[in-house]
Formats: sequence, structure tokens, C-alpha cells
Amino acid sequence: MARRAAAPRRGPPQKEGRVNRLDVLRGPHPAVDHTARTIAALAANPGCDRRAVFDAAGVDKRAIARHLGHPAPFGQSVFAITRARAFERLVKADGCAELLRLLRELFGRDVGEVGYVDVAETEGSGREARHARTRELLRDAARAAADGRPAGVLVDHPLLRLDAGGTEVYLEPDVIALQAGGRFHVIAIKSFAIIDGQAEPAQVAAAARQAAVYVHALRALLAAEGADPALVAHDVVLVCPKDFANTPTATFVDVRQQLAVLARQLARLTRIDRILDRLPPDLTFDLRPGPDGAPTRPAADLARAVRQVPARFAPECLSTCDMAYFCRAEAREREATDMLGRAVRDALGGLATIPEVLGLAEGAREPAEDEAEIADRLRLVHRFYAEALGAAAREVAVA
Ligand code: SF4
Repeated sequence: MARRAAAPRRGPPQKEGRVNRLDVLRGPHPAVDHTARTIAALAANPGCDRRAVFDAAGVDKRAIARHLGHPAPFGQSVFAITRARAFERLVKADGCAELLRLLRELFGRDVGEVGYVDVAETEGSGREARHARTRELLRDAARAAADGRPAGVLVDHPLLRLDAGGTEVYLEPDVIALQAGGRFHVIAIKSFAIIDGQAEPAQVAAAARQAAVYVHALRALLAAEGADPALVAHDVVLVCPKDFANTPTATFVDVRQQLAVLARQLARLTRIDRILDRLPPDLTFDLRPGPDGAPTRPAADLARAVRQVPARFAPECLSTCDMAYFCRAEAREREATDMLGRAVRDALGGLATIPEVLGLAEGAREPAEDEAEIADRLRLVHRFYAEALGAAAREVAVA
């Protein structure tokens, strides 16, 4: 199970002014750290300023959505979390002995001597120290592999860093392994079962998206250290319980497609400074907790603050973002074309609302100059639709 980085996510290159601004937006609440899951979700909707701001400021989206009366049905049960932790402990016990056995089986050959280093035991274990130690270990392993020296190493609790739209994010994959073939593999330990060689496709897809974030960050780290990023394999190792027992099994998952999507979407993320410049300077999502910690801010006031940051709802948000139910209600209120999904919205070429679309299709609204082409297409479709309906009605009448 991937852990959250323990400390705030903002890294050294950020400007002090922006840090203060993000603190004001968050209010007196502890920052919620980015994870590979949140990066994957952010990259899945790069046009959404609301999510970008909330994530950069470490705003607790779940608490906000709950207070707005639109809680998202996400999150693991206590039982599932306990089970996941127990499984991870089993795989990592005795210096990852079980994991090493699985890797030997999976790679189908002797992976040779493999050292084990737990980065969590780094002296002065702040995140900077842990990230520096991770960099040092991976750089040395990459050099040894390039020189043909024995380089097998299992790095437990590594800490990677990634720039997401101008925000430095710390990420903690489960384990990174360098094996005899001289390539690094990200290892993802998950507690969902592989039964008869098959796992729930949605869970595998989510694990692949998260692992792709780690692969991307690891390649960036090697590139920054002057090593070849291609040393990081696009095949990640997925470790899950086998069948209905708690026995671990390992399999490769190819994340090339997820990597391509992630790289494209990360490049499209608007720099957070540009979004902040467009927002009122005193905007805050402070829930104003009372003495018992419960929010005292009127929900309507909070909703007004949230609406100041433009959102870009898509039906996919329902499975990736805690704000989805609020944003969907807002998109419904506006009768936004966002409700129809990204493909339809993009095909409608910038028409923001369903009444605008219907107005053009039915000829009730004169198109603006840049709407002439889409208006022609909509009228054509509307005519075909009306003719088809008329034909169907005549057939019913004859019958
Ligand atoms: S649910 Fe709302 S905030 Fe989250 S990504 Fe979608 S539109 Fe953005």
C-alpha cells in the first residue's frame, strides 16, 4: 500500500508569496499531502483550476465536500486499511525476504546478491534527508549497473519528488528494485486479490495509473542525476494476495500507455501561479472550526468561495475526485455541456451550456461568427433527428 508523504508537499523552489497564499486558501487546517493517486487524478483533468488550487494548497477536499452537503463515497473501510497494512508487512518482513523470493520467481533467473536499504531509517529522517538518501542510493545503483558491477538493491520507503503544475510533490512508492538486468522496477503492493490469474480490472487500472506516476518521478530523478531515465522499466511489479489466501503473488503490469497520458497531461497543467493571480486575494476555504473541531462556517458562504474557482466537471470526476458530487450539482444547475462527457463537450467546440446547443440546433438563436460551423452541424443533426422521428411516428400510425 502506497503511503502518503508525511510532511507538507511544497518544495524549495516555490516562492514565499505563493506559499503564504496557499496557506490563506487552506486556512488553519493541516495540509493534505499529494499522493500518486491525487497526481494521477489531477493529471486526468488538467483543465480544472479548482482541483489544481485545492491540491496545491493541501485543502481537505473530502471535508469541504462533506460540509457542502455533497460527500463523496470514497475511502477505504478501517477493515480494508488494516488488511492492506498487514499484507504489506507480510511482503516486507525480514528485509523484504518474501518480496525477493517473488522477484526471483518473476524474473525467472537468479537476480544475484541484492542489498536491502530502508530509507525510513535515514538519520535526521525529515523528508529532505529521505529524498537525498533515495537519490544517492539510486544514483549509485545506476552507476554500478552502467559499469557492469553488482548493483542489486531493494530500496524500501523511497521518497521521490515531482513537479506538478509548479507544486513540488513528495511521493513514496512501496519499494524500488534494481535487479540483475540492470533496470529499476517500481513495486506496487496492493491488497486486492488476484483470483485464477485475474484481478478486478478497475483496481488494476488504478494501480497502473499510480505506478506510472512513480515511474515518471523516478525517471525524472535519474535524468537529474545524469543517469539514463530509460533504466527505469515501464513494467511495474504488482504484488497482490493470491486467490482467497493471503499468499503473495507477483506479476508485471505494462504502464506505457498510462505514462504517455500522464506526461501529456502534466505538461498541460496550468502553472498554479497563473491560476492564483486570477483569484480574489482574500479567498479562503477555511471551515472555521469551533472548539470541538466541527466547521462553523455557513455552507452557503463556503459554496460561494468554492464557486470562485472555475471547475471543469467531467463524468470521470465521479471516480477520482472528492468534490465530484458538488461539481456535478453545479454543472447541472448551469446546464453545462460538461455533463455530457469530454468527447461530446469537445465536439461542441466551446458551447458551454445545453440551452445554447439547443438554441443553435433549433435555429432559435443566431450563431456568433465563430459558432457558424458548429451551428451548421447541429442544424443538420437536428433535421435528421426530426425526420427520423417523423418517419417513426408515421409507421406507428400505419400499424
Ligand atoms: S470534481 Fe470538480 S474539482 Fe474535482 S476534478 Fe472534477 S471538476 Fe475539478
